[in-house]
Amino acid sequence: MNSQYRVVVIGGGVVGASVLYHLAKFGWTDVVMLERRRLASGSSWHAAGGIHALNADPNMASLQAYTIDLLSEIEKESGQNIGLHMTGGLTLAGTPERWEWLQANYRIFQSIGIDDCELLSPEEAQRRCPIMSTDGVLGAMWADREGYIDTTGTVQAYATAAKKRGAEYYEETKVEELIQTDDGWQVITDKGTITCEHVVNAAGLWAKQVGRMAGVELPVSPLKHHYLITDTVPEVAEAEFEMPMTVDLEGFTYMRQDQKGVLVGIYEVDHEHWAMDGAPWNYGEELFQEQLDRIENELTLGFERYPSIQNVGIKTWVNGAFTFAPDGNPLVGPVPGKRGYWSACAVMAGFLQGGGVGKTLAEWMIHGEPEADAWPMDVARFGDFAQNKRYIRETTGQFYSRRFVMTYPNEQLPAGRPLKMAPAHDAMTDAGCKWGVSWDLEVPLYFAPKGFEETPTLKRSNAHDIVADECKVIREGVGLMDISGFSRFEVSGPNAEVWLDKVMASKLPAPGRAKLAPMLGENGRLKGDLTVLNWGDGTWWIMGSYYLRAWHMRWFDDHMIDGVNVQDLGEEYCGFAVVGPKSQAVVEKLAEQDISGLKFMGCRDFDIGLVRARVARMSVTGEKGYEINCRYGDHIKLRRMLLEAGADEGIRECGFNAMLSTRLEKSFGIWSAEFTQLYTPGMTGMDRWIDWDKNFVGKEAAVAERDGNGPAQIQVTLEVDADDADASGYEPVWAGGERVGFVTSGGYGHYTGKSLAMALVNRDKAAPGTELSVHVVGVEMPARVVAPSPYDPQGKAMRG
Ligand SMILES: Cc1cc2nc3c(=O)[nH]c(=O)nc-3n(C[C@H](O)[C@H](O)[C@H](O)COP(=O)(O)OP(=O)(O)OC[C@H]3O[C@@H](n4cnc5c(N)ncnc54)[C@H](O)[C@@H]3O)c2cc1C
Repeated sequence: MNSQYRVVVIGGGVVGASVLYHLAKFGWTDVVMLERRRLASGSSWHAAGGIHALNADPNMASLQAYTIDLLSEIEKESGQNIGLHMTGGLTLAGTPERWEWLQANYRIFQSIGIDDCELLSPEEAQRRCPIMSTDGVLGAMWADREGYIDTTGTVQAYATAAKKRGAEYYEETKVEELIQTDDGWQVITDKGTITCEHVVNAAGLWAKQVGRMAGVELPVSPLKHHYLITDTVPEVAEAEFEMPMTVDLEGFTYMRQDQKGVLVGIYEVDHEHWAMDGAPWNYGEELFQEQLDRIENELTLGFERYPSIQNVGIKTWVNGAFTFAPDGNPLVGPVPGKRGYWSACAVMAGFLQGGGVGKTLAEWMIHGEPEADAWPMDVARFGDFAQNKRYIRETTGQFYSRRFVMTYPNEQLPAGRPLKMAPAHDAMTDAGCKWGVSWDLEVPLYFAPKGFEETPTLKRSNAHDIVADECKVIREGVGLMDISGFSRFEVSGPNAEVWLDKVMASKLPAPGRAKLAPMLGENGRLKGDLTVLNWGDGTWWIMGSYYLRAWHMRWFDDHMIDGVNVQDLGEEYCGFAVVGPKSQAVVEKLAEQDISGLKFMGCRDFDIGLVRARVARMSVTGEKGYEINCRYGDHIKLRRMLLEAGADEGIRECGFNAMLSTRLEKSFGIWSAEFTQLYTPGMTGMDRWIDWDKNFVGKEAAVAERDGNGPAQIQVTLEVDADDADASGYEPVWAGGERVGFVTSGGYGHYTGKSLAMALVNRDKAAPGTELSVHVVGVEMPARVVAPSPYDPQGKAMRG
């Protein structure tokens, strides 16, 4: 072992070994992995080794598809047998809603390029898995690339393949302390000290402690998990083919063949956390006693699904632990505020996600950006609030116990909520507000009559008409909307303007003006769909999506220069938007200064009644509107005053669902849908805001796109002939049977009375009037490209 390396990877489980392999593969060979015991001494040794292509999150499904394709490659490269059994797999649907969901997902997988799936009748599913009872099964999805592997063999294969490419790894070497230096890290081990530029925390069950060694509190916890392996099952032994990996979602179990018996794993509704502060250091290759009382119900369902296992013995019980982040996705990437400290932990399914995690992290370290959109697993998607132990317990527990439970797009889950509430929260609840959550903050969805409960559904819900009324108020009268759920950063200091001019690709606004500002990565892809406000007093604001606060702050810090101070105002400022043709009349009643001169995209400080406010004349709804930003302590008063002042105009409170419907009618894109790190200015129309005459981050790549052949796909607005459901995102778009794009977001345009979607489609299918089709909840519906902004295309209303 040398005393210096470029990278030290801590942990020799499947994730650490995959990181090591990918670093070496992409050209960094001065890298070492340290394992305190033997390879695969954490969760990895006792995993069930199942590999599934399918995941409800399309980004995670892509990650899994990459990993599955990689497995045979590393087997070949390393010469290490990984016991790969590509049996194919079944996912069963046991309720009509689930069957509908599976059919919808089948189409979404097509959109992301997972084409080796098919939908099956219960009879056909049973033919492929003859030991299964079809009781209650309404249909199934088959995927070719599913099966299982030998877990320790796989970890060994990654490590051996990495070594063949020049990387090193050492077993029986425990990292005990980490010390940050000016140019990297000192890694103190029980075998000596190593200095390095980068440290990767791939410590699995011990990730919490290895985080704390660097002063990092990661939102991760282990939970326990059972599977059993049966003795020989005669029907399995006699079958001429292997049983497929079978997931019974309504039964909470997965099953695969294990020699001549089967392995049945259980996602436990009555879940149990373990060692929330990290596994004990003396914990090794041990298991917990099985806890049958906790899993009785799921076990019974499993034995009913596979009746033949009722007559055979159980050879092995495994009750082990593995780790989860609050949303179940891995925690990957550069940890904010800790230069050279990288996270590769909380990987719930290391054997089907580990390859993708290793690739993503290695690209990130070497090139500064991963190829894929890493947002869903980015360690910076959580803020400090997620370090709270109870928050971690509630959210990880909820994710685990609902792993196989269907979550509807309009469903609100309770874990870790309510946490942060804007001051007027309770008054708004009394007024009927139904709440959603963005990051840690409760955000208003809509205002309903007393006693109203929204029914979870894949289609239009019973809140449809309520939201329609709110949209009408916004378009014809005046609505009041709590906009605490926007992010606000203040930029100040002598070099504030210079810095903003460099990180934003657009022209900067003049004093007293606001401007839409795309922010690009060095690779020319989007990093933000922001609004920059120039208050004219030397301070500037950047406004954007609230849930991106830590992510954007990391970006700002990484691109910081002297003489600039960027402050996240998310704990200090909140506010209300007054929107609609009568908005001016309401705000005018309260403004102590003349507000009639504040033009569209103007911004200025005003006294709104008793509140000192920073006001901007803009609105995401495409209507005339005023965003009134106030200090947290003024929120209640501001709301009261605006409601009183607006009473004569019929002011009504509205929520984000109406905002989403109205923005769709204006073809205004939003982050995580129309705009992501994967898309470019040319694809999304963001190029119209770029100032090509100046220098900005990502200019070279943006110019190359502008002067090249143009993007293959561009953003369009679609009108869909849907009746009781709307597109939501990732549904395929077809032209005469050929897949020509996919939906980025969709919904009902209540005021225009149209089902609308935004989509990325091939350029030759982007002209208004082009007839296409879209799958909506699994059913193909005619659709056509329409000119952008079906409502008020000239933008008269918002400028008015
Ligand atoms: C019962 C069960 C069934 C499962 N089934 C599946 C499945 O079918 N498919 C699937 O994909 N996943 C499955 N999993 C999950 C899978 O096991 C984990 O996702 C995976 O093992 C995580 O790998 P890891 O490398 O992140 O962590 P670990 O395997 O925990 O590895 C971390 C390693 O880091 C080492 N380490 C920690 N601290 C230090 C230190 N300070 N110095 C040096 N070394 C250190 C540890 O000794 C350990 O070897 C299952 C898990 C369980 C419990």
